[in-house]
Parts: sequence; structure tokens; C-alpha cells
Amino acid sequence: MGNSPRIHLNLNVRGLPQSATLAINEKSARMMSEGKEVFKLGLGQSPFPVPQPVVDELKVNAHQKNYLPVMGLPELRAAVADYHRRTEGIDYTEDDILIGPGSKELMFILQLVYYGDLVIPTPSWVSYAPQAQIVGRHIRWIPTHLANGLKLTPMELDKLCAKDPERPRILILNYPNNPSGTTYNIEELKAIAEVAKKYRTILLSDEIYGELHHEGKHLSIARFYPEGTIISSGLSKWCGAGGWRLGTFAFPKQLHWLRDAMAVVASETFTSTSAPIQYAAIRAFRTGPEIEHYLRQSRRILKRIGQYFHQSLKSMEVSVPRPKGGFYLFANFNAFRSELRKRGIYNSLDFCDRLLEETGVAILPGSVFGCEEDELSARIAYVDFDGARTLAAIESLGPQDEPDMEFLVLHCPKIVTSIERICHWLSECK
Ligand code: GLU
Repeated sequence: MGNSPRIHLNLNVRGLPQSATLAINEKSARMMSEGKEVFKLGLGQSPFPVPQPVVDELKVNAHQKNYLPVMGLPELRAAVADYHRRTEGIDYTEDDILIGPGSKELMFILQLVYYGDLVIPTPSWVSYAPQAQIVGRHIRWIPTHLANGLKLTPMELDKLCAKDPERPRILILNYPNNPSGTTYNIEELKAIAEVAKKYRTILLSDEIYGELHHEGKHLSIARFYPEGTIISSGLSKWCGAGGWRLGTFAFPKQLHWLRDAMAVVASETFTSTSAPIQYAAIRAFRTGPEIEHYLRQSRRILKRIGQYFHQSLKSMEVSVPRPKGGFYLFANFNAFRSELRKRGIYNSLDFCDRLLEETGVAILPGSVFGCEEDELSARIAYVDFDGARTLAAIESLGPQDEPDMEFLVLHCPKIVTSIERICHWLSECK
């Protein structure tokens, strides 16, 4: 022991656990390797394969070996700018785009270079707050309410900003939302944009699930506050390529100073994003009929499963907003509090541990999304199905036909069993 190095950890990381999304994935994998049956509704990983034209492009570019420019491959930056121009009508150019190894890394660097508070609604994705903690920023949580689908309201934002109007802040707005699956309509976006503008708050609009809006009707808030909004996106969710690690930021001209500062940190840290992946991503962001079709079919499947989970939970009197995009829902089991207590379950962590132990269903506790420890809430990622098989199967349905229960039982059996198990487990509480 005498000669082992002493432990000197930065105070900001001391005691910080591994990110909950990755920890639950590794725990589930471990349990499966021990022969246990696990329903993997913990990590939010797209079940769909990367679209074939994008995979083909990666194969063709496997030989690309050089370091690329820090800000990203110029053709890819142009393709991303075109993509946002096409989908949002905002006049981005190649110059406005920064490419990184996942939007998560770009978010971290943004928080590092910008000196201001981080403002996020409760619940919010698991990594925003720990990133702020690592770089030593203050975190301001804004409460949300089940009655309006756990969405940030302009009033609550105004209330927070009015306390110290000149304070520099970054607000992260994420929609379709992780963890709730809800999204904002045009009026809500305009109203939030107005408050952000009033206080010159920088808006980081995390739109990584934008293409997975179940009706294909995602709108960027950048339309209403272009000068102060950065749009964050990437390949992980809509393109099924989480493990490829490619994220994008789109900046307005007014925030190029932030882009430049981030590029300096990028040059001293990750250098540049993987070359073959960047070449393949050009194909993804150019989209086209084949990718549009893939997206339409992915949305149909996610919408159906989201509805099914939502209805099943509602029938058990669980409070849960209806998911409108992406592949999550956020359920509140407070109505079961006294019954759960009798089983020794006092908080969301107990709830998820016991659910996993007793049913094999892995989900994440509300506490890792910033909710009070004793709130009995949890995120369910409805992704444990074979995306390739389900995409192939939906081809046999007419374009207007909704996949029925038989379709789900046949093609997404783990999805059906997992929600049945959750409901049965809850019914045993009564
Ligand atoms: N965004 C995904 C999730 O919330 C996983 C990726 C990650 O957390 O790094 O589950």
C-alpha cells in the first residue's frame, strides 16, 4: 500500500458516478451474460439499423485516414447547413457548422467555454447537469408540471431570469424530449424564444430527436430567436448511429465567437471527428427518398409503441404524458406510494432496482433526471425490439394502416412482455 500513488481528484469529479444511461446498459449486459432475462428499456439507443446508403458510404470511405479540419469536413459542414436550411428555412452556411464526436462532447465544450449558469427544466437528460458540475457552473433547475406534459413554461423561465436579468445563462431546451417524449407547439416555442431574447440567454436547442417527431412535424425554436440559438443534432437517434459518435452544432453569425472558442478547445482535445464517419455522414444529411422512407417507417413504429405503452400505463392509473416524439416516456408512480412503501420502496432508485430484480425490466429512476429523490418517477426507453425486422415487417402494411396488437406481438415481443410485466408488478402492489 505504502508506495501506491495518492489519490488527488478534482473536487468537481470526486464522487461523481458513471452516467446512468451507460451504467444501466452495462449492468443489463452483465445480467444477460449471467443468463438472466433482461428487458433493456434503460439506455436510449435507437433500435433501427443505420440506413443502407449511409452504411455503403462508410464502407467506401473506410480508407480515409487523415486528420480532418478541427471544425469538420467542409463537405459535411455544407451538407449539415443545407439540411437545416431545407428543414427550417434558416440561412445557414458551411461556416456556421461545427462537427464533433457526438453532440454530448460539443455540449460539454460549450459549457466549458461559456461562463454562465446552466438552466434546465426538471426532468432533463442525465448528462447536462453533471457536465455543468464538472466544469464548475451553477445549475438552475426549473420545475415543470405533469398537467402540461412536463414542459418548460415561459413564465417559469421569466421568473428565474428576472431575479438577476443581466446574468449570463445557457438554457438547454430539448424536444422531442428526453426523458418525457413530449414536444412544444409553435406558440410555446415563440413564447420561450421571446423570454430568452429578453434576457439575452443563449439557447442550446437540443433537437437530436427532431426527425423522430412521430408526425414528422418538428420545428426548430431557432426560427424565432435565430441570433441566440444553437441547434444541436447528430446521427445518434434518427440515423440509428449512436456508436458512430457524430454530433453537429449550427450557430448563428452572432455566436461565431463561441464557435471559435469551442474549436480551440476541440483542437486541444479531440482534434477532429473520425474521418470515415464524417464522409458517411454527408450521405445521411443529404437525406433523399430512401432515407425519408426509412424515417417515415421508423416514426410509425415508434408512434405505435409509444401509444401502446402510454395506454397500458394509463390503464394502471399511472401519470404519464403522451409521447409525441423520440422513444421515451416519463412515468410517475406516486399514486402507488403507500403500497410501494409496504414493499420497502421509498424512492425512484429503489423502485427501479426492485423492478429490475423482480421482473427483469431495466428502466431509469427519475432522480438521475433531476427529480426529487423521493418522487416515484422513472424513464422508460421503449427500444427493446429488433428495428431491422420491424422495419421489414411494416412494409407489408398499407401506408395508412396502423400496426395492430398482433403486429406488436409478432414483431416486437419483448416490448409487449416488458410492459405486461411492469403492469403486472404494479397490480401486485394493490
Ligand atoms: N441519450 C441516450 C439516453 O439518454 C444515451 C446516450 C448517452 O447518454 O450518452 O439514454
